[in-house]
Amino acid sequence: MYQKGRAWIELNMEHLSHNVAQFQKLLPQGCALMPAIKANAYGHGASLIGRALWHMGICDFCVASVSEAIELRKAGISGQILILGYTSPLQFADLANYRLTQTIVDFDYAKQLNDFGKQICVHVGIDTGMHRLGERSENIEAIFQIWKLKHITVTGVFSHLCVSDSSSATDRKFTLNQIAKFQSVVDALHSKGIHGFKTHMQGSYGVLNYPGLQFDYARIGIALYGTYSDSCDATVARVDLKPVLSLKSRIECIRPLYPGESIGYGLTFTADKKMRIAAVSIGYADGIPRSLSNKGYALANGKKAPIIGRVCMDQLLIDVSELSEISSGDEVIFIGKCANQEILASDMAECADTISNEILSRLGSRLERVAV
Ligand SMILES: *Cc1c(COP(=O)(O)O)cnc(C)c1O
Repeated sequence: MYQKGRAWIELNMEHLSHNVAQFQKLLPQGCALMPAIKANAYGHGASLIGRALWHMGICDFCVASVSEAIELRKAGISGQILILGYTSPLQFADLANYRLTQTIVDFDYAKQLNDFGKQICVHVGIDTGMHRLGERSENIEAIFQIWKLKHITVTGVFSHLCVSDSSSATDRKFTLNQIAKFQSVVDALHSKGIHGFKTHMQGSYGVLNYPGLQFDYARIGIALYGTYSDSCDATVARVDLKPVLSLKSRIECIRPLYPGESIGYGLTFTADKKMRIAAVSIGYADGIPRSLSNKGYALANGKKAPIIGRVCMDQLLIDVSELSEISSGDEVIFIGKCANQEILASDMAECADTISNEILSRLGSRLERVAV
C-alpha cells in the first residue's frame, strides 16, 4: 500500500494509552471507561482505535449507529457495544445477530423492540433535562415497566449531561440537578427491587468537571483522543492529555505570485508584493473547513504558513514566502506538531468557529489512517 502519499492521518497509540491511563487514574474505583468511538472514532478510524483500546483491556464501547457497531464486531471486538442512538426496526435483526446493546429512547420504543421477539440487551436512556433522548426521569412507572417486557434484557440505565463543560453557576446548578434526577431514578429502581444494571451519565466534560461521581461507566469521547472541544479548555489542563491524531499533507508544487495577481476560485486573495505560494493536496473533501479560506494556517518546516485563497475540494494554497528551504513533496501539517510549533484540533476549530469534535469527526474517508 502506498501510504502517506497525498494527505493522511497519523495516530499516536502511545498517546492514546497515556490518555486512557490518565482517565483510569481520575475515575473512582469501580468506574470503567466506555469510550465513545462513534463517527469513525471522531475521524481517527474506528477499527484502528477500537482494536487498540481492546488490546489495552477496554471491553465496553459506545457508538452512534448499528453500522458503526458492526464495523467494530468485524474488527474483532467482542465486548459490549452500546448504540447510543435510534435504531430502525429494519435493523433490529442486526442487534440480535451481532449481540449489540441498544439504547431505549423512550417507553414506546421499548415496546417496539420487545415486539420484535428476539432477546436484545438494552440500556434505558433517561432524560434529565437535555430533552433529546430518553424516557423522562419523572416517568418512573413507565421506566419500571420496561423491566417487565419479556424480550428485552435491561443491562444498564444512563443519562446525558448537556452543560457539563460550562463553569457558570447556572450551568453547574443545572448539571447537579441532572445528576440528582438520574440518581433518583436509580434509587427508585433499587427500591422496587431492581438491581444488577449498570449506570452511566458522564462524557468527557462530565468526568473532567465532576470526576468524583460514582457510576459504572464513563462514556469518554473527545478527551480520550487527547483533545479538548475548545482551545480555551486546553489552557485549564485538568488532566495531562496528549493528542492522538496528526493531519498531514504534501506540497504539490511551488510557484511565484507577482504583485496584483489573484489566486484560486473567486480570486479572493491578491498579492501586494512578490510571493511564493504552494499548492497542497488536501481540501474540504478531506475535512479542512472551507471557512478557513484566507484565515487558517498550516505548519511547514516548523513555521506557520497561512492558507490563502479559497480552500478547494481537494487542494488549497498556502503562503510559503518566508520558507525558503521548502520544496515540492514536503510535508505540511494541519493538525499536529512540527519543531516547536503545534496546531491543536481545537486551534483549527476556533479558527473555523466550531469545536474540535466537529473538525475531527468530519475528517474525510479519503485520508489514509496510519498508526505510527
Ligand atoms: C458523543 C457522546 C458521548 C461522548 O461525548 P464526549 O464529549 O466526546 O466525551 C457520550 N455520551 C453520549 C450520549 C454521546 O452522544
